[in-house]
Amino acid sequence: MSPERISRARNIDADVVVIGGGLCGMAAAVAAAEKGAGVALLEKKGGPGGNSAFVVGIFGAASPAQRRLGIDTPPDGLFKMGMDYAHWKINPRILRAFIQKSGDTIGWLEARGIRFDNIPPLYPGHVIRTWHSTTARNVGPVILKALRQDAERRGVRLYFHTSAKKILTGGAGGVTGVLAEVKGQELRITARAVIIATGGYGGSPELLKKYRPSYRESMIYLGLPHLKGEGLLMATAIGAATEGLGTLVLHTHFYPGTSDVNGLAQEPATLWVNANGRRFADETLTFQPTECGNAIDRQPEKLVYALFDEGIKNRVVAEGLHKGDVGGKPGTAGTIPANLDTELRAEAARGGVRISDDWGDIAGWMGAAPEVLRATIDEYNRFCERGHDELFDKDRRYLLALRTPPYYAVRCHLCFLTTVGGIKINHRMEVLNGQDEPIPGLYAGGDTTGGWEGDTYCIRLTGTTSGFAVNSGRIAGENAAARVLNK
Ligand SMILES: Cc1cc2nc3c(=O)[nH]c(=O)nc-3n(C[C@H](O)[C@H](O)[C@H](O)COP(=O)(O)OP(=O)(O)OC[C@H]3O[C@@H](n4cnc5c(N)ncnc54)[C@H](O)[C@@H]3O)c2cc1C
Repeated sequence: MSPERISRARNIDADVVVIGGGLCGMAAAVAAAEKGAGVALLEKKGGPGGNSAFVVGIFGAASPAQRRLGIDTPPDGLFKMGMDYAHWKINPRILRAFIQKSGDTIGWLEARGIRFDNIPPLYPGHVIRTWHSTTARNVGPVILKALRQDAERRGVRLYFHTSAKKILTGGAGGVTGVLAEVKGQELRITARAVIIATGGYGGSPELLKKYRPSYRESMIYLGLPHLKGEGLLMATAIGAATEGLGTLVLHTHFYPGTSDVNGLAQEPATLWVNANGRRFADETLTFQPTECGNAIDRQPEKLVYALFDEGIKNRVVAEGLHKGDVGGKPGTAGTIPANLDTELRAEAARGGVRISDDWGDIAGWMGAAPEVLRATIDEYNRFCERGHDELFDKDRRYLLALRTPPYYAVRCHLCFLTTVGGIKINHRMEVLNGQDEPIPGLYAGGDTTGGWEGDTYCIRLTGTTSGFAVNSGRIAGENAAARVLNK
């Protein structure tokens, strides 16, 4: 930094600096302030948000809301399920700390005026009801608003339009503060604890390519483009270790056009083929979006063509969607895609949909060999007529032959919500160095961290990404406050 820039820098002091105003950062700031620490929070946008603003439901186990609704979710069982699902490749103490805290955190949020009166299953047959929601479409903004009000009431200094650039360290390697930038001016905050809560790096194709070589730009990221892994880079620059880099929360396929077409393309009654015209999965996998993402991830260019005929289309219009939209509010299943015909024609004109009486024409549009696509459809139609999918054992309720023209093909892309690998932490949310020792005074939580989710997001424990954001933020805030206040 040039001497001239140093002289222009503004200096402030805080006990704890939080970087990022998503669910993790806001929870961290409130938790640290609640314990008596003086907190400054830096957020590069104009207010709290991040991907947290999209959250529909948040994880909780043994919460007051579940007790009210008579839902039994013993933390021990969920912990074991989470560890088994991850094949014990994650840090069990982190998962334990998170799940153990999560019920109390739902009560902590309810004490701030939120009422979690809706804890629905995510998919048919889903019995573990952990996805806490409200009557609002998205619960994320509701929680952010409540935490902001509480933060202001407790005197947390909120610095918006302020980007953290560097974490400052002292002689013994511990953190001493943060260097930030606001409207082209430097802001130096001196503090004894720093909490990184900057979210994932889904907005950085460079980091995605670096950490996940199988990443393709044809994939669609549903989160915010300004989340570029800045906290991760700042932490590694001062010696933080990493864990789970390259892990994405994959989430089925997505048609980047109109919503009714996207809804139909994810229906279990459609037939999915890859770019070569080959079927690759039981289409009811649509109800397990992250595992469905894994199946698509293996396909050429990570593309899916959802195929159906006039009969399947008409049936969905008559009965409504069985699944509903991606990340949709529970209850979108059953929605009648009323604009489907108009949307299909419009999307065909835009080039993302093909409508034809001839599968050979559709194969040509896809770039697949016509005989391969024809063989796939003939085989699938035979399965439908026999009522048994000899390849993937798809539920026979959804085995509907494609025999009534016109035929439709919708080109869809693998999508993901966020990244969940990053800064290595322990169960106290302390950031670890290459020797697995805490970097004094440095904490992190939420999507910028790794080691708490395996290579596939465990959708059975629904809502764990936002749940981890709030709970890891709370734990980090409490521990950071205890450190600076010597408690
Ligand atoms: C469409 C969609 C739907 C989702 N639905 C759900 C759901 O229903 N349930 C669920 O559990 N999860 C859901 N998720 C995932 C969830 O949104 C995230 O896992 C969670 O919100 C992450 O919270 P966070 O606080 O770690 O990060 P974020 O909420 O992304 O917040 C990070 C913040 O840090 C700020 N920041 C970044 N760099 C800097 C910097 N250098 N200086 C200052 N500030 C900075 C950003 O501006 C941002 O505000 C969904 C995600 C998407 C995209």
